[in-house]
Amino acid sequence: MAQRWGQRLGGLRSLLTGSTGSTIRAHNLRAVLFAFLRQESVSRAQLAQITGLSSTSITNLVRGLIRQGVLAEVKPPRRKADRTAPQPRGVGRPQRALRLVPDARFAVGVHIDVDRVYLALTDLYGRPRLTDTLILPEGIAATDALQQISERAAQIINSSGVLPERILGLGMGASGLVEPETGINRIAPGLGWQDVPLVDSLSARLRLPVAVENNVRAMALAETFWGAGQNTSSLAFIYGRVGVGAGFTLDGQLYRGANGGAGEIGHLTIIPVGGETCRCGNSGCLETLISEGAISRAAAALDLPPGDGPLIERLLGAARSGHAGACDLLAERARYLGIGLATVVSTINPEVIVLGGFFARAWDVLEPVVRATLHERTFAGMGDCTRLEVTRFNEQAGVIGAAALALQAFFFEPREV
Ligand SMILES: [Zn+2]
Repeated sequence: MAQRWGQRLGGLRSLLTGSTGSTIRAHNLRAVLFAFLRQESVSRAQLAQITGLSSTSITNLVRGLIRQGVLAEVKPPRRKADRTAPQPRGVGRPQRALRLVPDARFAVGVHIDVDRVYLALTDLYGRPRLTDTLILPEGIAATDALQQISERAAQIINSSGVLPERILGLGMGASGLVEPETGINRIAPGLGWQDVPLVDSLSARLRLPVAVENNVRAMALAETFWGAGQNTSSLAFIYGRVGVGAGFTLDGQLYRGANGGAGEIGHLTIIPVGGETCRCGNSGCLETLISEGAISRAAAALDLPPGDGPLIERLLGAARSGHAGACDLLAERARYLGIGLATVVSTINPEVIVLGGFFARAWDVLEPVVRATLHERTFAGMGDCTRLEVTRFNEQAGVIGAAALALQAFFFEPREV
């Protein structure tokens, strides 16, 4: 799909020389722009260091991007004139920092959750400028849902006043098994969808390039670009809500595994015999112990103080008030979460683990037991060296991640606007 769009945009893709751009030039441009997605400001000298490109190449690429309005030089802080200080010389001004111009381009992010869809138009720093939420009726057919999603996305674009040519594309984080290459959502268990052609359907309706990925992986990308994972070499994002899953980035790139199955930690076997049956068909999976549904089912047996709102929130409130049963239940489930994280640490040893969804909302209650479990169950204290953080994007992690997907897929073919 990206290739098809690349061909369609060929005439617009002047890059820096007005040509259609060689593979090498596209590769270099990608390396430069990628550095800006991962760091807020970078000097030309740092760019040369990060990308391994010559200072001449950097100067030329940067000049073109400034001309297109995508990059700007950061104004140095004003200070008293010091005539003895060395003045920057030459065209390159290698030490002056550069940054992206936030509203030079935009992306649309769409996060499909089980019962709702979050939409946002974000700038180049992943900051939502406009947002919308669409509630999905239970059992909605994929074609109806996609029709409604495309209408809402078109509304956001229209009401933003942003020129269509400044919108790089739409990124979508979908649940279940997603194939970025074909754009097909193979299985979305929570929605009952199978083999839904997300990319073809939305790109035809919206006339925008569309990129898709599993929604937890998209969140991992958001944290890598703009959150707790900035400037880290490896990150694991762990999400728990209806299901439990992980997304990994290594050197800023998503790690998907050979068949797109990397990160299915919800289906780690924790109870080998006699565990609850999981929706995957196995039994005793981590998800049967620490998903919101699993915890709520266990909480139903407790004598919790009456109150409004979902049971899981009442459970959390009770634990915070010192209710013994609530504290014990969450400590038990925190231990299972800790075992899951210990497995992640022992397998990929990430620099940082970021928690999202219920694990983020309940982190104040879960953290002590999770940390103790990580300490006990990792080799040579590796768990203690792993930074644990909660997502900085709260409930917007998914939609910001979806926008990150679009930037990652379509930002590297700048168009003259
Ligand atoms: Zn399972």
